Amino acid sequence: MRRAIGVDLGGSHVMAAVVEEDGTIKHRHEVDIVDHQLDAVLKAMRKAITGALDQVEDASIVGIGVGSPGNIDAKTGTIRYSPNFHWTNVPLGERLRAMFDHPVYIANDARCATLGEYTYGVGKGTRNFVLLTLGTGIGGGIISEGTLLLGNAMGAGEFGHHTIRPVDGFVCGCGKIGCFEAQASGTGLMRHALALAPSFPRSTLLDLPREKWGSKMIRKAAAAGDGHGLAAWNRWIDDLAIGLSNIIAFVNPEVIALGGGVSSAGDFLVGAVVPKVEERTTMVPRGTTRIVIASLINDAGAVGAATMAFRGGLTTGAGAP
Ligand SMILES: [Zn+2]
Repeated sequence: MRRAIGVDLGGSHVMAAVVEEDGTIKHRHEVDIVDHQLDAVLKAMRKAITGALDQVEDASIVGIGVGSPGNIDAKTGTIRYSPNFHWTNVPLGERLRAMFDHPVYIANDARCATLGEYTYGVGKGTRNFVLLTLGTGIGGGIISEGTLLLGNAMGAGEFGHHTIRPVDGFVCGCGKIGCFEAQASGTGLMRHALALAPSFPRSTLLDLPREKWGSKMIRKAAAAGDGHGLAAWNRWIDDLAIGLSNIIAFVNPEVIALGGGVSSAGDFLVGAVVPKVEERTTMVPRGTTRIVIASLINDAGAVGAATMAFRGGLTTGAGAP
């Protein structure tokens, strides 16, 4: 059985998993990251990866795949920009290759997750597939005719930063107004609820302490028929539908999978957004893109990074990253 180490590198912790070739996770090693200096992050990564490697026979490991947010040159493993660590042009790949005897691959985490969901999840069996992760932000990736699209500078699939509300939208973390991410991420759902608060002075949502505020709580209130929760949810669904119909117009994939924290809303989410997406879909034949919930959930990052290692990179072919 061939295995790979899949590494999910986040801002506060790193998780290294032993992933078997059928996509199942066998062992996990998680290490906290408390210091964002490169050497401290590398130390935490070494500890997590070594912990995972120690669990299995070395000869069965085909490589180490690392997924992390930001713009990453997948050819060299250089982090061009990391929003978590505030790094620019950090040669993470070079440093990790000096530490381990196995091939090391590094890429954007959402692109890795797309590859994982395409290979082992709801994208399996399709040729044209999109993953959209709705969490604190929005990430994604595009598979076209079986190949992950990278773009000229690894920017293909940055759905989160296409503008959908340039006039009356929320300010995005990237500085623009009305990005899809600002409007339709889990954070976007909270912002819709806060923006609507003056219209619901008796809302019970407002009685909750601020630290308990979260997209899940708003979604649950909406499902229970709470007026404030429902109003926020409907605005959020409207914005999500705009972005999804744009993606359909650009890519017309067979399947768009929704992942990330908000996707736990399941049928409540899909049932609400699909009719609105259909309304906004013109020219592209309606109903030719299915919208479903992703299946790898929290494991998407590690499984996706391992998938990259199994494939020998994000894409296959001579000189490809
Ligand atoms: Zn943005």
